[in-house]
Amino acid sequence: MADADVILPGATLGIVGGGQLGRMFALEARRMGYRVLVLDPGADAPAAQVADEHIQAPFSDPAAMRALAERSDVVTLEWENADVATLREIERIVPVRPGPGVLEVAQHRVREKDAARSLGVLTAGYRAVATRQELRDALAEIGTPAVLKTARFGYDGKGQAVIRDASTSAIESAFAAVTGDLQDGLKELILEEWVRFTMEVSVVCARTARGEMACFPVAENVHRNAILDVSIVPARVDDEVARQAREVAERMAEGLGVVGLLAVEMFVGEDGRVRMNEVAPRPHNSGHYTLEACPVSQFEQQLRAVCGLPLGSTDLLRPAAMANLMGDDAGTALGRPGAAEALAVPETALHLYGKREARPGRKMGHLTSLGSTPDEALERVGRARSRLVEGAG
Ligand code: AMP
Repeated sequence: MADADVILPGATLGIVGGGQLGRMFALEARRMGYRVLVLDPGADAPAAQVADEHIQAPFSDPAAMRALAERSDVVTLEWENADVATLREIERIVPVRPGPGVLEVAQHRVREKDAARSLGVLTAGYRAVATRQELRDALAEIGTPAVLKTARFGYDGKGQAVIRDASTSAIESAFAAVTGDLQDGLKELILEEWVRFTMEVSVVCARTARGEMACFPVAENVHRNAILDVSIVPARVDDEVARQAREVAERMAEGLGVVGLLAVEMFVGEDGRVRMNEVAPRPHNSGHYTLEACPVSQFEQQLRAVCGLPLGSTDLLRPAAMANLMGDDAGTALGRPGAAEALAVPETALHLYGKREARPGRKMGHLTSLGSTPDEALERVGRARSRLVEGAG
């Protein structure tokens, strides 16, 4: 039965953002016979290298966004800081999935937590803060340690400061650290209770316009310098924690009315209760393992969800572990003899994103290893990464 809302192979998929998430999405889309149009300011953006067409323009350029809309059958994103007002305008031309309303929440840590609470999802205690006095009041309520963050545009630990005591000097230095880059009048901050967690986990959940949902298995995430380092799947948690994590992800995806993907990062508290930390309305670094370990990857699932196709199976075919390759330790990883040694590790796959310049903290690629158990997969991916990074040459 033909469904007028289904976007079929041959159609053009517009994507806001040309990084590695867009690249992996574009590769899957082209495999399935779709055309891909990428909007990104970079001449050599990872996704632009593999897309059918590239609009090279800043995300803030409304004319470029309109051109993307006019030439696409649906617009999706891999970068959530797109301008919501511009997306609202182009929504009159083309479906935007996930919609601007989801972005509006995902771009703002206070709105994210307000949304979670209104959906009955547990979070760390928090207060919105704009001035030093509000920070003092919030600290009196929340206590220390606490973490002060910018409400917008924070990622990978940027725009954050831990406050260990409520002394004037601690307050001043945290306020200065976090507001350093902010203009006056733009001090939208959040103070969060410091969560004593045993593990960080995430779930990538897909949802279609008809309300069909499917969650990928729970990933256990290990960070280095506040950047994801390794994901292990399935997370080594008991069934009850895994159930809570899936439930949090589903509640958020449904409650926000996501069409596409929602990645939900969570803390597993020492009390065994799962708390939502943040959401991203796009594929997620902790979901890269799905390329090898699931029948349908997170990127194909994003495509299926935004095109109105049936969602694919999210079964885990085999335990997996993913390790990021960062600019600081792997360089560009191009031409590295260690890559050959890494690939001698059983059931190991290499992904490089085509970035020609390595910088500290820049994600250049990743490795995924499978195994009979999560521990075996973790041991393999650690070995593969050491070989790649330290290997001859
Ligand atoms: P975020 O940008 O919110 O993902 O924070 C980056 C990392 O900082 C997280 O992955 C945690 O390891 C840590 N972190 C952030 N917020 C908190 C919190 N409220 N309590 C404990 N750790 C946190």
